[in-house]
Amino acid sequence: MGSFTTHHLRAHDRTRSPVQRFGALRTCITEFAPYGFRATYHHLCRSAGIPPEPEMDSEAVVRAVEELHAAREVWLVQFREWQVRRRAQKAAGMRIPTPPEPRRQLWYPDPEVHPAEPLTAVMPRILRAPSGNLTECPVCGAGYGTKSWHDGFTAHLLCAGCGASLAGRPTKPAPGVEAARAERWKLVWKRQV
Ligand SMILES: [Zn+2]
Repeated sequence: MGSFTTHHLRAHDRTRSPVQRFGALRTCITEFAPYGFRATYHHLCRSAGIPPEPEMDSEAVVRAVEELHAAREVWLVQFREWQVRRRAQKAAGMRIPTPPEPRRQLWYPDPEVHPAEPLTAVMPRILRAPSGNLTECPVCGAGYGTKSWHDGFTAHLLCAGCGASLAGRPTKPAPGVEAARAERWKLVWKRQV
């Protein structure tokens, strides 16, 4: 059994403590994170209403892991179909996959800025996103404009609608920005914002 499947079951397991079950959810997010780990974590804690102390609502972890699992299933169905086609293409000597492998992630560098819709609603648009730098947001479409966002190492061009990184370039480190981002992430991690 893969790690996601194992930890998906553990998140449900009422014989484990709420803290252990919450840990299992976090492992699932390291395995599958449609927005990247931090933004996916923030999204699920919000959408499932995980309180600062997991003991206060141990079933919130189940809601979160089920939302993530459902999104992963959307990806898996498409990925498996693609794999079957790809095998046939390889057998026929086609070196470049057509269509390309379905994407499983868009990068949302600001953990607090990502789509508010359920993951299963957004996942089909992520799957179809082209690889590399993007000229328009695969989630929102055209016309939402862009904004700049810096994490301390990389200058991102974000979709102003949902926060997806359309392009990023490394810059000179900016320790002040990095420290501010790290402080904010600590609050997100503890579910205090
Ligand atoms: Zn967008």
